[in-house]
Amino acid sequence: MEKPVGCRFCELYEGRNNIVWERSKGNPDIIFVGEAPGEQEDIQGIPFIGSSGKILDAALDYAKIDNYVITNLVKCRPPHNRKPSAYECTMCGYYLDDQIEEYKPKLIVCLGATSLDYFFKGNSRKITVMTKETTESGAFLEKNGNKFVAVFHPSYVLRGGMAYLDYYELFVKIKEILNVVNCRSCCN
Ligand code: URA
Repeated sequence: MEKPVGCRFCELYEGRNNIVWERSKGNPDIIFVGEAPGEQEDIQGIPFIGSSGKILDAALDYAKIDNYVITNLVKCRPPHNRKPSAYECTMCGYYLDDQIEEYKPKLIVCLGATSLDYFFKGNSRKITVMTKETTESGAFLEKNGNKFVAVFHPSYVLRGGMAYLDYYELFVKIKEILNVVNCRSCCN
């Protein structure tokens, strides 16, 4: 769908420079969903273009993931990068639902807890967040016909929570999971 220029579903419109919609590469079969734009994203109108985005791009390159869409649950920058409110997540979630409907991704990758909570509404503990210790190929969760995995937000690496290379390796697992998903859909 087109970017909804002029959206006023919530008060974040007051402080935004841009609605930050999506960026994509190839013929997308994975959608990566972050939380909300930061300063650089708001200025440039492109998701994950700042320091977290550099880590995300490096991980995608490392794993040779070439067909994807990157977006956020919330499309406008919250003031001072605060966490988006439940209301903001709900209202912007309609757009995310539309993006998923449009792309029909084979896999949805939640980058961090905010998007994970949106999809699993408080039941997010049922989905295993992939870490170095819990990377099991083929481990995804299904809901309403969509398949999900979750990894930490790239900012977790920036904060020193995880080594860069370990994070990149998770994306290799994501690619393996995508292969499993593809194989299941073509072999069934
Ligand atoms: N963090 C996010 O969750 N999204 C961005 O686009 C940038 C930083």
